[in-house]
Amino acid sequence: MDEILILAEHRQGELRDITFEMLFAANTLGRENDLATAALLLGHETSGLSGKLKGACDRVLVMEDPELAHYNADQYLMALETAIKDRKPLLILIGHTAIGMDLAPAMAARLSLPLVTDCVHLSLEDGRLGVLRQIYGGKINAQLAMKPSDHYLISLRTGSFDPEVEQGKSGDVETIPAPAWTNLRGRQFLGYVEAELEDVDIAAADILVSIGRGIGKPENIPLAQEFADAIGATLSCSRPVADEEWLPKSRQVGTSGKTVRPKVYIALGISGAYQHQAGMKNADTIIAVNKDPMAPIFAIAHYGIVDDLVQVLPVLTEHFAKK
Ligand SMILES: Cc1cc2nc3c(=O)[nH]c(=O)nc-3n(C[C@H](O)[C@H](O)[C@H](O)COP(=O)(O)OP(=O)(O)OC[C@H]3O[C@@H](n4cnc5c(N)ncnc54)[C@H](O)[C@@H]3O)c2cc1C
Repeated sequence: MDEILILAEHRQGELRDITFEMLFAANTLGRENDLATAALLLGHETSGLSGKLKGACDRVLVMEDPELAHYNADQYLMALETAIKDRKPLLILIGHTAIGMDLAPAMAARLSLPLVTDCVHLSLEDGRLGVLRQIYGGKINAQLAMKPSDHYLISLRTGSFDPEVEQGKSGDVETIPAPAWTNLRGRQFLGYVEAELEDVDIAAADILVSIGRGIGKPENIPLAQEFADAIGATLSCSRPVADEEWLPKSRQVGTSGKTVRPKVYIALGISGAYQHQAGMKNADTIIAVNKDPMAPIFAIAHYGIVDDLVQVLPVLTEHFAKK
């Protein structure tokens, strides 16, 4: 049976959400086309991680070696090349993350694989892989049919598939040998640098209160912060707010910021431009406050308040602070 191979991504001993998103995409395509799914786990002392992957794929391939203890493009390329040559998968999935952007083009060049990056949907028809990706900053969805090939390499956009879905698998764990490390270019892992304290990971927040240009002036930001504090939310923003340096760039949601999937996303004074929507439209519940009833954000919001946020916020804060 042909196989879909996904490269499991992990950091500091934790599997990243993108790993389960890729497995969800792989299992969906696999079910429809009779393809098995395998997760490739590269690392050192990763036994805890393979256990977590077992339930989400047909096979976990573990390559353990001290050289793989931390991400390094040189070692990862050799390791992935070894696995691809060994397994000959029809499709290889890599996350469109900092690691994937580093690795996927180099891997494609090395093995002459057809590559499409930053995809949000996959399909297979008559042996041809179809992919959906967004172009012009998310303004247009482009459906591409790839030329028939024995192998395809695809990187998937984070936040496009559900990492939480129960996959109902019970894969075997198989160890595969690491390659002989030759011709390494000498890149070295020096250390892991934690994000600065002011840098909150908005992608990890369950509730986001997000402010846009409609906040008007920086003096109004405390109104949003107090509301966020009252409901246990983290503050994020649209691009103009980050451009004005009213909030750090790390808080920006959208195509040139972060992709988020919180349980609740509250958009305050955000029009809902496609570049912004692309980063938050997969939130479970979207609530918009905007004084313009025609603002595009209302097209994707589950609940909305048409009003001036400066008037609305103190009322909401008072309401929730009492709870
Ligand atoms: C290549 C590229 C990448 C981009 N990347 C991003 C990105 O990552 N993230 C991003 O957000 N944008 C991005 N943009 C910018 C994007 O196109 C929009 O310009 C931006 O999202 C608009 O931000 P906004 O909604 O805060 O502001 P606006 O579009 O100006 O909307 C402000 C909204 O606030 C409402 N409002 C005003 N006053 C009040 C009030 N008192 N009470 C309630 N509502 C009020 C208005 O009705 C309006 O709907 C990008 C653009 C380009 C070209």
